[in-house]
Amino acid sequence: MKKKDKKKFKRRNIRLKNMEIDDLDYFEEEDIAEEKRAEKKIPDKAKTSQKANLKLKKGRILEITTNYKCLVKVKNKVLECSLSGRLKQINFETRNLVAPGDWVNVHISENPRIEEILPRQNSLSRFTESEFQQEVLIATNINQVIITASWQNPQLKPGLIDRYICAANLQNIEPIICVNKIDLCQDLAELEGTMDFYRQLQIPVVFTSATKNIGIEELKQYLQDKDSVFSGHSGAGKSSLLNCLLPDLELKVANISDYTGKGIHTTTQSRLIPWKFGGNLIDTPGIKTFNLNKKDKDKIFRIFPGFKKLYPECKFPDCTHTHEVECAVKKAVDQEKFPLARYESYLRIFQSLQ
Ligand code: GDP
Ligand code: ZN
Repeated sequence: MKKKDKKKFKRRNIRLKNMEIDDLDYFEEEDIAEEKRAEKKIPDKAKTSQKANLKLKKGRILEITTNYKCLVKVKNKVLECSLSGRLKQINFETRNLVAPGDWVNVHISENPRIEEILPRQNSLSRFTESEFQQEVLIATNINQVIITASWQNPQLKPGLIDRYICAANLQNIEPIICVNKIDLCQDLAELEGTMDFYRQLQIPVVFTSATKNIGIEELKQYLQDKDSVFSGHSGAGKSSLLNCLLPDLELKVANISDYTGKGIHTTTQSRLIPWKFGGNLIDTPGIKTFNLNKKDKDKIFRIFPGFKKLYPECKFPDCTHTHEVECAVKKAVDQEKFPLARYESYLRIFQSLQ
């Protein structure tokens, strides 16, 4: 270890010793266990606190209000917190350092401050198009993503669904496809044909109509007791669906008690809202395109939907299913055992990551 690094290491240890998690008797037993577990996993930079003797309480981010301010639920209170300056320097590759769903440790005071971001179980992110891709965190610590699409207006884009499934597979998030505006569908057989591919992969597909109240109860069953992020093409009817699922959504947001007494912002950002029937919703702004991370280009040929069973049969273990000989994927496409349209979708994604 270099002399300089040794010094740093020593300093960090001292800081850690000085850091104090709140009086144990304030928390219930399971909170304490959770906190201790989480503490072990905190990455070094987020672990060190500049200030000694901080009283930290664990909370979950509900919403990002401005650049470095968020609403955090700590126990049953919602606090508007700022992000500690030190945390802002951790990662330049992400556009936003935190997202709804993040667990954080907050220093409680007149001006509550997030001192630590606890390690994430997973995250759903999209990536900017530029050469140096930046990550845009959509939601973190979630069980499932509800890929919200519509049959028409806007037209169903299975390519976008594929991208979401790839992102979900990379992060161990369960994908669920919701095709809304089913009332506009003239040819159910065609839609079923496209969706069969996903159903055969055990990916749940729910057909809904927010205006005709179709499929809402079925969707609810998938949502119960899970943390779900709703994301999809803008205009597909996500807001209308959420209004069916949470009729008093607006009321609920307005009723959240704000510890600091400042008003709650209405926002076009993602936000976490508890369902009445258990679990949480993370609502996100609609998107039109969804770019994956170029750094995942060496994983995509394994995690693309439907490839799991096929790629072990390819001659080369790192087969990209493009130019290689004896490729099980290409063979399945030739034999019409794998839909050509989905293979072409794969090729477009593969190309976009080069
Ligand atoms: P979002 O951008 O995904 O949140 O979409 P909105 O909920 O704002 O809906 C966009 C448009 O689609 C609105 O004009 C809605 O009235 C309409 N819409 C939403 N759901 C349905 C549906 O199930 N059927 C039909 N026909 N129209 C719908
Ligand atoms: Zn192959």
